[in-house]
This record gives sequence, structure tokens and C-alpha cells, in this order.
Amino acid sequence: MIHSTSIDKRRRVLVVDDQEINRDALEVILCEYYEVITAENGAQALEEIEKNDLDISLIMLDLMMPVMDGFAVLERMQADERMRSIPVIVLTAEKSAELKALQMGASDFITKPFDVPEIILARAGRIIELCEGRQLISNAEHDPVSGLYSRNFFYEYANRLYTYHPELRFDAVSLNVEQFHLINALNGRQFGDTVLKKIGDEVKAYLAETEGIAGRMEGDQFMIYCLRCDDYAPVLSRFQAAVDAGFSGGGIHLRMGVKPWEEGVDPVMLFDHARTACGMARGDFQLPLVVYDEKLHQRELLHQRLLNDLHIAVEERQFKVFYQPKYNIQCQPPKLSSAEALIRWQHPELGMISPGEFIPLFEGNGLIHVVDSFVWCEAARQIAERKKKFGVSLPVSVNLSRSDVFDSTLIDRLVDLIAENGLDYHDLKLEVTESAYTENAKQLLDVVAHLRSLGFEIEMDDFGSGYSSLNMLSSMPIDVLKMDMKFVRNIENNETDRKLVTLILDIASYLGVPVVAEGVENSGQLEILRNAGCDLVQGYYFSRPVPAEEFEALIEKEIHTERN
Ligand code: C2E
Ligand code: CA
Ligand code: CA
Repeated sequence: MIHSTSIDKRRRVLVVDDQEINRDALEVILCEYYEVITAENGAQALEEIEKNDLDISLIMLDLMMPVMDGFAVLERMQADERMRSIPVIVLTAEKSAELKALQMGASDFITKPFDVPEIILARAGRIIELCEGRQLISNAEHDPVSGLYSRNFFYEYANRLYTYHPELRFDAVSLNVEQFHLINALNGRQFGDTVLKKIGDEVKAYLAETEGIAGRMEGDQFMIYCLRCDDYAPVLSRFQAAVDAGFSGGGIHLRMGVKPWEEGVDPVMLFDHARTACGMARGDFQLPLVVYDEKLHQRELLHQRLLNDLHIAVEERQFKVFYQPKYNIQCQPPKLSSAEALIRWQHPELGMISPGEFIPLFEGNGLIHVVDSFVWCEAARQIAERKKKFGVSLPVSVNLSRSDVFDSTLIDRLVDLIAENGLDYHDLKLEVTESAYTENAKQLLDVVAHLRSLGFEIEMDDFGSGYSSLNMLSSMPIDVLKMDMKFVRNIENNETDRKLVTLILDIASYLGVPVVAEGVENSGQLEILRNAGCDLVQGYYFSRPVPAEEFEALIEKEIHTERN
């Protein structure tokens, strides 16, 4: 066993023999190189081991002793995971006992009467060296936190299984902890480590029932290479149950991605896909298990294509800004009051691509600012145009992505945009999704406060889908709450959703901000919201997101109605 102290301190050897003369003889031989401690029988030896906190490099163990003999010591050491790694040289006069001792875990033996001192020293030195070398390898081989293989060893062994056992079909399973960085940030690293250990233990227990190996990469990424299984839902459930049992009320959620065995696909490739699948399961508490199948594969190919095509798309102006109006429903008839700019990609070969397809993709790799800059510029230019054309100002909100908010040039870019197009700050509103608020609250609040001090209005998007607490809300600088669509969807026949909507309206009124209800598709939903006091509505009921020209037609219609 290697200890950090063993580099600058002499190694410790425990000599166990009931005969004082033997103890003395060995002590004399060893003491020049080692710190020697002694015990008269097995029971004392175990006490010494504990007393020295297992910091013992070698045990020289007599077999025949009163109270507790050497065999009993070997047996106890074998049964104890920590003690097992301390090497033992057995001292014996009987040839017949040697084999048994070796079988019981002894590393070597020295026959009595003792050899010349040089031989004893050489044997002791060699055993210590061997054992420490083995320990070094074992340390690198295993991740100390989870006890599973570390990354390189995991892949090495997975490759061996793949190469030498083509008859066995192994699936690649990737297992992650949802928002692990938050768990660490909130509870400390030590707590995070106990979570990882718990998962490691349960993974080991699973592997004991099937065939396979497991490893942990950096952070919370577990990899399991195990025999084919048709349904991983119960496997994920048992891991989740173990975590729930270990950390009650911890709200720790696991997610899993699986790439099933495929002829001729090596572990590295399999795990690439398993990780992709696991990424898709992110944030989905209903379905935290995703299997990499043909559909997912096609989707990956599409994403690759979109990444390749992004720059040419900007150059060729394939992106279009659509507008979806927001209506004030407390007026009769409802009044067009503003709009949201939503991007569309008119791809020359793939046709119209929805932002749901490419926004998360570009958010994931930092390219989103290319898209967002385009939308902001285009929206700002068109707002200015319309102001001139219709003589009224109709504010438009644009979406900010998480990474936009943390971009140090954001404020300058927006300020320039306003100046270049001769706009007022309230002409261009900014939508920031609720989940961004919980991620890096301090920095976000600073940026948002700065934007507001300039005169920008901030709408909190998808409110109710994230985790902001009431406590956080009251300190959040916002001007509008946009209620997440999911509340509206079932508002007509789901009592709970209706109550939640009322609750959100109450919160907003407490904060003194108006609410926009998104996703309103029919008059039933509209009436419930109107009666509950909701101010603004955006949804297919009034209009889908439409191209700029169609949106202008809506404005013209509005102006016409007002005049009459
Ligand atoms: P979001 O900001 O929550 O936008 C609202 C989404 O709901 C839009 O989807 C809109 O078309 C859709 N929607 C509106 N009314 C209804 C309705 O009555 N029923 C249903 N079922 N859906 C409705 P879209 O345009 O596909 O955009 C999806 C998401 O993509 C947006 O969600 C937003 O997060 C993101 N996005 C869109 N444009 C941009 C952009 O320019 N920049 C960034 N960063 N994100 C954008
Ligand atoms: Ca939005
Ligand atoms: Ca939204």
C-alpha cells in the first residue's frame, strides 16, 4: 500500500512471532532500512495494524503462535478489503505449511532457522516493491471516487472484450446525473463524491448479476459496457432507487443513454452514440432514458449538415424572421400590442426548418450568436421601417439565448443596434428564458439590471418550466412574465393547471408585472385567461408566426379597425 507519507518516511514492517529471539533477530536485520514494530501473537498483530492505521508496508508472520496463529491472521486479512493489500511474508520451519500459507494470500515465505541477513532483506525489499508497484497500477486503473475503472483502462478492457469475445454482445450504456454541477455547487464537492460513490456501488451490484465492466470519466459520466438487454428502464429505475434511498429528498435525477450492440461497431463508437443519446435525455424527468436508434442517427446526420451549412445560410440570407403578434385581451376587441420575432430557416434543399431543430444545436456549440445577431439586426431594421411606414411604434421582442446573456459584448451590441436604427429602447424587448436565471443567477441579474437601466424591457420566457423559487423571483428584475405554454394547453379540462395559472397571475400581480400567456389556440382557453385577469395572449388563436409582409397586413388591419 502506497501512502503519501512513505516517500519521505521510512517504511514500517510488522514482525509477528511468539519467540522473542526470532523477533529480535529480525528487528536487528531490518531496522537499518525499516521502522520495525513487533507483536507476540495474531491478536496483537491485528491490533498493531489498526493502531498504525494500516500504514504498514510488510508483515513478517510466524504461523505457529498461541492465542491466535498466523493462519487466522491471514484469514482475517483476506476478509478485510483494506488489510488485504498489505503483503505478508510467512516465517515457517515446516515445508508443508508453505503452500497453505501462499494459498491463503501470503506473498512469500522465509524458512526458519533464518537465512543470512542479506537474503531476508532482499526478499522483504522485493515484496514491498512488487506490492507498491501493483498498487500504483491499481490506483491508476480505478477511479478513487466510484471504485470503477478510470477512463483509459475502461476503454482498454472494453476493447479487449470486444476483440477477444466477438461471441458476446455488449451494449454501451451512458449514465449521468442531471445538473450535477448544481448538486456540487449547492452541497459541496464532498457530497457530490458520495453521490458518485453510491452510483458506482449500484453499478457494481448490477454488473455482479450480468456480465460487463464499468468506468467513470470526468465528472458524472458513467459508462457501462454490459451484456445485451432489451429493456433498460428497470435498470435505470434501480439506479435511481438506490440514489433516492441514499439521499432522500435530495432531488437527484439520473439519465441514461443506450447504444445497443451492433455488428462491427467498436466500443469507442458505441459510447459516442450512447453519450449522444444520454444528452438527448437531458432535462427530461419523464423520459430520462434514450436509446440511440435509426431515428436518432438520422437526426445526428441532419445536425452535422446544419452545422456545415450555417455560414452559407447567413451569407445567402436563408434565415427569415417571422413575427407572432401578442394581443391585449383585456380590451374589446383584443388589441394588437406587440410581437415576438421567431427565426425560420428556409433551407434550399431541406425546406423550412423549425428553430426547435437548430436553436438547441447552435446553443450547444456557441454558434447561436451568429443566428441571434442576424435576428436582432433584421428585427431592428424592420421595426424602424414600420415606424416610418405606419407612424406607430409596435414593440418586438427578440429571444436571448443563455450564452448571449453571458457574452461580454452583449450590451454594446444591443446599444449599437438601437442607435444605428434610430430606435427607442422600448421598441426592442428582450426575452430571457427562466432556466437561464437559475443557472448563473448573480451574473445574469447584473446583466439584466444593466439592460433595464438603459431602458430595455425584459420578459421572462417559459415561466414555470424552470426552478426559480418565489424567493428568487422577488429579487429578479423583470418587466413581463411569459407563462410557459404547458399551463395553457390543458387549462380547459385540467383543474390543477387552471389553479397554477391563477397562481402565476397572482405572483405577477404581486410583482406588479403583466403576464403573457403563450400557446393559446382556442376561444375556450382565451376566455378562461381573460376572466382570470391575464393581460396578454400569444398563440395560434390569433395568429401563427408569420412572415414580415403578413405581419404588416395585420398592423394595417389593426390601424383600420381603430380608425373606424
Ligand atoms: P419560444 O420563445 O417559447 O417561442 C414560442 C414558440 O411557441 C414558437 O415556436 C411559436 O411558434 C410556438 N407557438 C406560438 N403559439 C403557439 C400555439 O398556439 N400553439 C403551439 N403549439 N405553439 C405555439 P418556434 O417558432 O418553433 O420556436 C421555438 C423556440 O425556438 C422558441 O420558443 C425559442 O426558444 C427558440 N427561438 C425561436 N427563434 C429564436 C431566435 O431568434 N433566437 C433564439 N435564441 N431562440 C429562438
Ligand atoms: Ca420566446
Ligand atoms: Ca416561451
